[in-house]
Amino acid sequence: MSGVRRAHGREGGARSLTSPVPAHRYRTAPLPLPPPRRGEHRGGTGKAGIRPCGDVRRGCPTRGARRMSGGDMAKPLLGHRSTDGDASVTPATGRAIGVLGSGDFARSLAIRLVCSGFKVVVGSRNPKRKASLFPSAAEVSFQAEAVKKADVIFVAVFREHYSTLCDLADVLVGKILVDVSNNTEINQSKESNAEYLASLFPACTVVKGFNVVSAWTLQSGARDGNKQVLICSNNQEAKRTVAEIAQVMGFTPVDMGCMSSACEIENMPLRLLPAWKIPIFLSLGLFLCFFTYNLIRQVIHPYIREQKNKLYKIPIEVVNTTLPCVAYVMLSLVYLPGVLAACSQLYYGTKYRRFPDWLDQWLQHRKQIGLLSFFCAALHAGYSFCLPLRRSHRYQLIETAVKQAVEKKMNIWVEEEVWRMEIYISVGIIALGLLSLLAITSLPSIANSLNWREFSFIQSTVGFIALVISTLHTLTYGWSRAFDENQYKFYLPPTYTLTLLVPCTVILAKVIFSLPCIQHRLLRIRRGWEKGRYVKFVLPSTTGEYSSGETSSNV
Ligand code: NAP
Repeated sequence: MSGVRRAHGREGGARSLTSPVPAHRYRTAPLPLPPPRRGEHRGGTGKAGIRPCGDVRRGCPTRGARRMSGGDMAKPLLGHRSTDGDASVTPATGRAIGVLGSGDFARSLAIRLVCSGFKVVVGSRNPKRKASLFPSAAEVSFQAEAVKKADVIFVAVFREHYSTLCDLADVLVGKILVDVSNNTEINQSKESNAEYLASLFPACTVVKGFNVVSAWTLQSGARDGNKQVLICSNNQEAKRTVAEIAQVMGFTPVDMGCMSSACEIENMPLRLLPAWKIPIFLSLGLFLCFFTYNLIRQVIHPYIREQKNKLYKIPIEVVNTTLPCVAYVMLSLVYLPGVLAACSQLYYGTKYRRFPDWLDQWLQHRKQIGLLSFFCAALHAGYSFCLPLRRSHRYQLIETAVKQAVEKKMNIWVEEEVWRMEIYISVGIIALGLLSLLAITSLPSIANSLNWREFSFIQSTVGFIALVISTLHTLTYGWSRAFDENQYKFYLPPTYTLTLLVPCTVILAKVIFSLPCIQHRLLRIRRGWEKGRYVKFVLPSTTGEYSSGETSSNV
């Protein structure tokens, strides 16, 4: 798995139980902004239909490109400055920062700004009442007075109240407004809140930022929660100023390009586990399938055939036979896309061919699939641990003991069964331990402390060993049941035989790939070798026109 590579980067996007780098690292770079350009306009997006507040003294910039050009993105906004003991960032501290609003966000922001060495002026509609809520170092005054004293103003007010700030338009001219607002729904309005604010104040420069940071994170000083602050604006200088403030506050500013990205940034806090949707639906789907299958075998079959009511089995027994099936199949699904990727590379004889989108998606979701497999395995361990605590189990034990006493059976020891159970539990514990190791090392804080080889060894080699041991666990559970015709309820084979299908295919494929002839070819492909390097070109005809015949050349 570790060796499967894509044309541009490793086989999967997200750092996972098997893939190395978090998805967001591909998407954004920590603040690679260019230095300010001469003659750059300040101002908003100038939307038609919305009457701008106040005097429009500067031209409105046109809607910028969706993203900054590659060249721009490559330049660091803050150069190579670091906040840790670097004197070059000190000038940012001490400057006056304005905050409009006195709500939760404004208060937390003011506290963090004061702690970071900034002078804070808060603008409120009712400063007398709100002053006591802020740290004494922050100055709380009327909105107009506050904005006069600062060049950078955080607008900690909801979008619907932006228009009430229009009276401040004259004093806000030329200032940087930081729009921190969020929505309650994804794509709530046609234009983003930041673009709306910019259209109301075209004489100001609007920067979108800090909305992905909660008031709580601000108060706790970026120790807990997300440290990234996503920033976008059409004005590079303003963006750089806000990024510098974020960095001094202990956050990691991330450049998201120009103002047209504001909508995306505003949607981000509203998205509910986007990377988990597919894995969760997959595990739920598997759970439902196996649950129904086990229900038919363990509850419906005895009811129909023997009129026995076994409904009591549903909450624990049926669930506990379903969970390991899901965990086991999900674990094999972490390794199956790697096998398919290897097959594709072997078939086409190149690593420079794009995988189909479904395979790409699958590769990127392996971390989540692996973690859900671990979750189900942990639940299975918990349920199994509690099995002897159930009343039904006690009754069954007593019933068996009484039956044996009546039949005067003295020795009930079955050597084979004893060994089967010992091995079954032992390999189960080992498999769970290895899965825990995989889950722990997929946590960013742990993964970051490992080098690439260590990470790939744990996720790839140890992961595969976990799959093999889980297979042993399943086989010792089933033992010879697959050959016992009483186990075929309604002609349905025991559940464990079904779960073995995908994992055994993966193990078999891995064994085949480890054969020297195939392994060698795969390794060559992954180092850049290609089967046939044909380039097709068309020769011009003597008449000056292009001939219809194609010539192939091996380069
Ligand atoms: P909040 O507690 O309700 O505060 C909003 C503030 O807006 C009020 O305290 C009020 O201060 C001011 N305001 C100005 N004009 C107003 C008007 N016409 N009507 C009502 N209030 C007016 O809200 P919040 O939680 O601080 O959120 C503020 C902004 O930050 C929102 O856009 C929100 O999306 C964003 N945000 C919040 C969080 C968070 O964790 N809370 C996180 C990210 C982003 P005065 O009465 O002093 O004028």
